[in-house]
Amino acid sequence: MNYWNPEIETMSRDALTELQNGRLKKALAHAYKNCKPYRAKMESAGMEPGDIKGIDDLWKLPMTVKNDLRDSYPYGMFAVPMKDVVRIHASSGTTGKQTVVGYTAGDIAIWGECMARCLTMAGATSEDIVHVSYGYGLFTGGLGGHIGGETIGAATIPASTGNTKRQLQMFTDFGSTVLLCTPSYAMHLGDAVMEAGIRDQIKLRVGVFGAEPWTEEMRDEIESRLGVRAHDIYGLSEVMGPGVSCDCGERKGLHVMEDHFLVEIVDPATGKPVPDGTPGELVFTCVTKEALPLIRYNTRDICTIDRSPCACGRNLTRMGKITGRTDDMLIIRGVNVFPSQVESVLLGTAGVAPYYRLVVDRVNNLDTLEIQVEMTEGLFSDEERRIESLVRRIEKDVLSTLGISAKVTMVSHGTIERFEGKAKRVLDKR
Ligand SMILES: [Zn+2]
Repeated sequence: MNYWNPEIETMSRDALTELQNGRLKKALAHAYKNCKPYRAKMESAGMEPGDIKGIDDLWKLPMTVKNDLRDSYPYGMFAVPMKDVVRIHASSGTTGKQTVVGYTAGDIAIWGECMARCLTMAGATSEDIVHVSYGYGLFTGGLGGHIGGETIGAATIPASTGNTKRQLQMFTDFGSTVLLCTPSYAMHLGDAVMEAGIRDQIKLRVGVFGAEPWTEEMRDEIESRLGVRAHDIYGLSEVMGPGVSCDCGERKGLHVMEDHFLVEIVDPATGKPVPDGTPGELVFTCVTKEALPLIRYNTRDICTIDRSPCACGRNLTRMGKITGRTDDMLIIRGVNVFPSQVESVLLGTAGVAPYYRLVVDRVNNLDTLEIQVEMTEGLFSDEERRIESLVRRIEKDVLSTLGISAKVTMVSHGTIERFEGKAKRVLDKR
């Protein structure tokens, strides 16, 4: 079995709960003592750390949101002196200030441990050549993937993003066997490999893709282009970076590293926990972090959790694939629409390339949705009847999946922008 840390990964639920209870109490005491914004939050809720006896009381604590971090820009929520901080990352927001996060040497070591568990879970070993095509820089993807590769003892290539031609050359010349990047970049690299006709010259066998939501259909597309077994990895800089969870060989959900991160799902409207299996917002509490404590951080990502044991032997709770973010959710004519729903429809349709763009507008006070879809290379514009029937079929499928009508526009192959990092697929003109 592929375990990096079998003791933790297969620990019984009772033993894990005991470990979590002890760590939660310590984490709360640390946050309360050393981080002013947390002390203020708890005081205004009339609470102190002693009120929380264990994880069953977790829901009583106030939640933390991205704005709390922005309001304390840059270091206001750090709970250790700067001399103990060894790394800074930041995530760029589309508006306003960046969210700045810090790590102690201990935090970095835990990151390496979590990433090592993920890569091992996906089937990577010290024999592999790990090719990291996430961006290196303030974004946590590059260095997060990197520390995972090095921790398992694999030869790790800091390829970063961009210069696709050079990426392909490294695939063939350096013999990369494991690829880490965003799913949209994996798709782009896959297309480039097919186009260059070098599929039989590359040795990639495992893909670990994350940093944006993607569908099972997208997984199939990437696997067929790159010849990899594709795994989903999840993380965000506020919590740590990549490595918070990853899917195992069973690929029935992503195992959360629960000895470090407590996971809850809450109702987006009320903030109250929902029963396991019910979709809601994903909330994390970090119980071992030193530099930047994080108590009940609402990620705004939508998914479900499953606490039943997995056939892989792990007892760690599994999160379902992220189906969207409450931030990304579009409300069109009063209906909640996630771009991932449209992606599922499109990728299940022959003749359609896996590139699309949603354009939302308001005409005469009515919301409109246009879905720009790229045709596959083989589908030429002179086959007008075929394209016309394809458009009608997609419009029908979108209506039955989303519950609203949309105008589908077919565009020629290669016209929709390709992304090396996170894809931007929505243009909201309202
Ligand atoms: Zn499993």
